[in-house]
Amino acid sequence: MIRAPCANPCTASRGRGRRRFGARGPQGKPLTRLTFLGTADAYAAGGRGHACYWLEDGLGTVAVDFGPTALMQARRFGCDLNALDGVFLTHLHGDHIGGLPVLLVELRYGQRRTRPFTIAGPPGTRARVEALWQATFPSVLDGLTCPIEWVEWQVPGEVSVLGRRVQAISAQHDRLAEATSFVVRGPDGALAFSGDTGWQPALAALVAGVDCFVTECSSVAAGYWGHLSVEELVAHRDELAVGRLVVSHLSDESRAAALAQSDALRADVADDGWSLTLPPG
Ligand SMILES: [Zn+2]
Repeated sequence: MIRAPCANPCTASRGRGRRRFGARGPQGKPLTRLTFLGTADAYAAGGRGHACYWLEDGLGTVAVDFGPTALMQARRFGCDLNALDGVFLTHLHGDHIGGLPVLLVELRYGQRRTRPFTIAGPPGTRARVEALWQATFPSVLDGLTCPIEWVEWQVPGEVSVLGRRVQAISAQHDRLAEATSFVVRGPDGALAFSGDTGWQPALAALVAGVDCFVTECSSVAAGYWGHLSVEELVAHRDELAVGRLVVSHLSDESRAAALAQSDALRADVADDGWSLTLPPG
């Protein structure tokens, strides 16, 4: 059953009040919340934001990917930017890292931050992000008042970042973007992120047993090697042994197709501002 996100997630979120994270649920279990700040493809289809997933758990707050619209969306949906401990990057394409220049400005002038900020990603992350910052805000970078802690994971490999274990594999995507898919194992469970990728059996092996798998779904039909489609996800659905499947990185067409094939896909179709909580219930 697909649960289409509410029509006005911002209002709905306010109505329920912002839940404290790092807090515990009704049964005393810790809670993890994942908020979808950008669910569009690289073209910002439907006026939705670029890739960014805001993860809050008992360890703190990290963003998975930080596309060009991420800072705006974080403000729009009431996320606490001061709580952000770092970002985990699936790969180095602009629709996933293009928000980092204005995040630099936020760290320097908005927060006047002094505590460390972590940027973790695939090999080459530091060089690529520093080049991006040098190209856009070199003087801001010179005056940055917080240390940047860089982490680059081996691919394939596993590393500890901000108290969580991140297990990464190479994605089937642009080689020059150092594309990865990864699982983040935190105190309350495991979440997986496909990044941008075509289908590969290694993806199913990576995500087996996770509580939630957020997968890209750029296309309606199979046919492009470097992205996933509704058709392929339906075909491989039984191979995805995950607690919950969420499709994101959606074009208008793939979003409509995912909603139309809800029974076969057995997934949530993400929308900007929508949140899910783990463990469920
Ligand atoms: Zn992308």
